[in-house]
Amino acid sequence: MVGSNRGLKRKHHVTSFDALGLAEPLLRAVADCGYDEPTPIQAEAIPSLLAGEDLLGCAQTGTGKTAAFALPLLQHLSERGGSTRGKRPIRALILSPTRELAAQIGEDIDAYGKYLKLRHHVIFGGVSQRPQEQALSRGLDVLVACPGRLLDLHGQGLVDLSHVTHFVLDEADRMLDMGFIHDIRKVLKVLPDRRQNLLFSATMPDSIASLAATFLHDPIRVEVTPQSTTVERIAQKVMFVEKSDKRRLLANILTTDDVEQAIVFTRTKHGANRLVKQLEQAGVEAAAIHGNKSQNARTRALDAFRDGKLGVLVATDVASRGIDVDGVSHVFNFDLPNEPETYVHRIGRTGRAGRDGTAIAFCDGEEVAYLRDIEKLIGESIDVDSDHAWHPGDLRKSASSAAPPQARRPGGGSGRSRGRGRGRSGRRSRR
Ligand code: AMP
Repeated sequence: MVGSNRGLKRKHHVTSFDALGLAEPLLRAVADCGYDEPTPIQAEAIPSLLAGEDLLGCAQTGTGKTAAFALPLLQHLSERGGSTRGKRPIRALILSPTRELAAQIGEDIDAYGKYLKLRHHVIFGGVSQRPQEQALSRGLDVLVACPGRLLDLHGQGLVDLSHVTHFVLDEADRMLDMGFIHDIRKVLKVLPDRRQNLLFSATMPDSIASLAATFLHDPIRVEVTPQSTTVERIAQKVMFVEKSDKRRLLANILTTDDVEQAIVFTRTKHGANRLVKQLEQAGVEAAAIHGNKSQNARTRALDAFRDGKLGVLVATDVASRGIDVDGVSHVFNFDLPNEPETYVHRIGRTGRAGRDGTAIAFCDGEEVAYLRDIEKLIGESIDVDSDHAWHPGDLRKSASSAAPPQARRPGGGSGRSRGRGRGRSGRRSRR
């Protein structure tokens, strides 16, 4: 079962897809996907979306949110038929921040819509525009797009959005992080007024709430808290290690421990490339995926990883969105992220499809403040694993006099005092 119903503000619990009001071709497609019962977000959202309501969803990838919005959307479009004469107008627009997520949504729509006669296409930058132009000129019912290329094509007069009745903004927090707010506003301006609107975001800071208020009308709210993904199937630990020793520690774990498949997160693209080289020198085959790689290289690496031919993927955050691979046994935070929510996104790449996962965070002396922020967000202290050759001592203790003595012991239980968040004054000040 994907996702968790903890933290979800539910009115009712539906355990069967049949009870949600979905049409037979969609139920058949869902059965073909092997889904036995709706995830909580699906149970909550689908009936309201079928009834035409707007939705504000606080949920991240892994909760089943794509089916939650795609199934009702496909049902509406197929019931309302659309024009039979002339070119099909785009009636649904789904905006995604990254190419990988867009491609994933496209694949999901393929699967859910397999018994319907609807056409969809995915467009994003970094690849030739020609096939996208051709698909647009043939006519589409559903367009999945990243904002940059969409506006580019729109500016060239190649996309007509004047018939859109369904608009989905996916991963809105990531959109804003990536600086897409102006693009989103531009897209909203060219959409017709009467339409159903959905916004999904893994986190709900004020900036998202105010964006949502500009275009959602009296939305239903569905929430699956990020904590639910961190706690259940993922064993989290932190290893203190000096920056210069991180790659040796990583190579050592990858070659000696029981790691089936791993995603390693670095802060920068350059760092990802360098790490891949260093791992290869240590005899570990790895590939990097990040925004500077060509789309072909990214697709090749992801396919090899998905097929199990590649054991280690080194990724930046942008590239990791939408990676949905069940066999990931380990996630390494090679660099700790400065946004604690990012940690939650990253480790959610493991512990999927009912399997257990391990998330290992490397923390050097400059990252202790980030670690504190993460622990504050997830509401627990992450166990320290000091059983490695590069352990420099508990940096958390040496870095802060605000920490109570004996607050954590390697291998100890959780339940750290929340009061330790007082040490946050030096939060993002990195030397
Ligand atoms: P998403 O949150 O949309 O990225 O979905 C995460 C994963 O859950 C995808 O691999 C989906 O195929 C899968 N999934 C979606 N809905 C269900 C369901 N009801 N039962 C089992 N798996 C599902």
